[in-house]
Amino acid sequence: MGSRILITGGAGFIGSHTCLVLLDAGHELVVLDNFDNSNPEALKRVEELAGRGALSVVEGDVRQSDVLDQAFRCKGPIDGVIHFAGLKAVGESVADPLRYWDVNLNGSRVLAAAMEQHGCRTLVFSSTSTVYGEPDQFPLTEELTTAPVHPYAQTKLAVEQMLQALCRSGAWRVACLRYFNPVGAHPSGRIGEDPLGIPNNLFPFMTQVAAGRRERLQIFGNDYPTHDGTGIRDYIHVMDLAEAHTVTLDHLLKQPAPSILTLNIGTGTGLSVLDVVNGFEAATGLTIPYDLVERRPGDVPRLQACPERAKTVLGWTARRSLEEMCRDGWAWQQANPMGYRKPA
Ligand code: NAD
Ligand code: UDP
Repeated sequence: MGSRILITGGAGFIGSHTCLVLLDAGHELVVLDNFDNSNPEALKRVEELAGRGALSVVEGDVRQSDVLDQAFRCKGPIDGVIHFAGLKAVGESVADPLRYWDVNLNGSRVLAAAMEQHGCRTLVFSSTSTVYGEPDQFPLTEELTTAPVHPYAQTKLAVEQMLQALCRSGAWRVACLRYFNPVGAHPSGRIGEDPLGIPNNLFPFMTQVAAGRRERLQIFGNDYPTHDGTGIRDYIHVMDLAEAHTVTLDHLLKQPAPSILTLNIGTGTGLSVLDVVNGFEAATGLTIPYDLVERRPGDVPRLQACPERAKTVLGWTARRSLEEMCRDGWAWQQANPMGYRKPA
């Protein structure tokens, strides 16, 4: 028997892929999203790929308790919540910190209060590898001191701390998943990442250059202390990340409360920007024109997970290669040059 799961932010990049994996695993879903950074078309395509319509949508803001009441009531008792709804752009968080504290922290607080009220205390929370700040010990284990250096990461760490306090206060079961760099798309090319405007992130920028939508990639910094001078990250296929959520939820639902888990979700492999560009060219046969430019303010030289705890606790490991990340991300970009919007 499947569970009934509430997914906040389920129409977004990671949320839509996770919804599909959860539907395929037999769960029933309620998605709450205000479509601030997503498109309802993503959810239509998720149902189409799953071949079943076990997904109800509540359009609204996670900071509004009446919207949450509607979500908790729309299908019957909710067994667990996956909380993706939030903001994620580092630069924007520096320019407008109050918005980040409001959506990310206050949104999570209002959600947790609604969960208490509706008797649902099982939660998977989207955290980030940026809570480690600018570390100098690798790979990163969950015990390392957190030292977030921008409001985005600070809000995520504050939510982790609020959830830890909840677990100390009552019968909660919580997992904070610290994602590394999710990329790629579902292999069908029907769902994928659809950033509004100029992409901030390497992968969507690179695929848009490949598609001719942008002229050249700027590589930010080639004087970092790494093997080729460009920044190192731990890129993970979004389908591996989506699968980590079902496994985490199944695990939590079997745990006695209270229970708190903090897990890195990455591959354990660090790749430089040039490794990614070369990998993309090898996987697709395309050429990515690029310029080496100044470092981007706020970037750290290296982030790379130790994924051992997730393997030990959940039996989960990332399985997909850089080649699959590139192939699937490119298939999505090619089939949907304007994302979910119709080409003009
Ligand atoms: P996304 O922007 O594609 O998805 C977020 C979803 O939340 C969107 O559908 C958006 O419309 C919705 N949303 C935003 N504010 C809302 C609000 N107030 N009420 C209701 N819905 C709201 O982002 P994503 O890449 O899928 O990320 C999902 C989560 O994972 C975010 O919390 C993000 O901070 C976190 N995360 C992402 C990354 C990454 O690189 N993509 C890395 C680490 C952590
Ligand atoms: N990057 C780049 N050009 C871009 C976007 C990103 O060189 O147009 C680099 C960036 O400096 C970092 C890596 O690619 O070293 C990953 O950046 P991204 O924004 O994708 O993820 P994050 O900064 O969140 O790790």
